[in-house]
Amino acid sequence: MSIIKPGSHCPICKHRILPWQNIPILSWLFLGGKCANCKEPISIKYPLVEFFGLQLGFLAAIIAEPSPWQYANMAESLRLFWLMVTLIPIFAIDFKYLLLPDTVTIGGVLLGFALSFFDGGIDWIDSLIGIAACGGGLFLFSFAISIIIKKEGMGFGDVKLFAGFGAIMGAELAYVALIIGSLLALAVIVPFRFIAKKDMTKPLPFGPFLGLGAPISYLFGYKILDAYIGIVDKLLSIFS
Ligand SMILES: [Zn+2]
Repeated sequence: MSIIKPGSHCPICKHRILPWQNIPILSWLFLGGKCANCKEPISIKYPLVEFFGLQLGFLAAIIAEPSPWQYANMAESLRLFWLMVTLIPIFAIDFKYLLLPDTVTIGGVLLGFALSFFDGGIDWIDSLIGIAACGGGLFLFSFAISIIIKKEGMGFGDVKLFAGFGAIMGAELAYVALIIGSLLALAVIVPFRFIAKKDMTKPLPFGPFLGLGAPISYLFGYKILDAYIGIVDKLLSIFS
């Protein structure tokens, strides 16, 4: 659903929501959780999502210390905020409908590329390489899978979402996010389906897991890579 045309309206009586009735959290409280026109209740999901989004905004600004209001760190805060706040629609939509909206996926590609022109983080060349390496890489992988299993291996939404991570944090960290997301998906979905005795060949939503991997990798990706290389080095020294 477009958020621009038509503008915010009551889903029941279609009455247009006036600007003062559309202030996050506050308007829901002022209106007593009811539509100003038809008096039908407004779901508590709305103020909850707004409140949760606000907290993520604060968190992103605090993590991008020492000064979140500086020019360079604004870009850093925005990247982190985007990676965290888009988890709300990714979880809500992908689990229910098995799709990822373009606003979130293509939006990430555009935002990541635009922010690469600001100080801090990757530059625009690395952002472009990230888009190509992540979008192209996962597309080829899912194409190969689809030939092997003779049906769609991975939704194109996941490919676009991953291209966005490449645009925001570069190919290296984005691939760490992909590995984290894959491990999370395996750790959650496989036991769940085994217990629930669900059909293992049925499609599963990968977006939420890939999405969770992104802020983790953005914050700790290089530490995780270092630890991994350290473990591999140790193992190699034992066997050599
Ligand atoms: Zn109404």
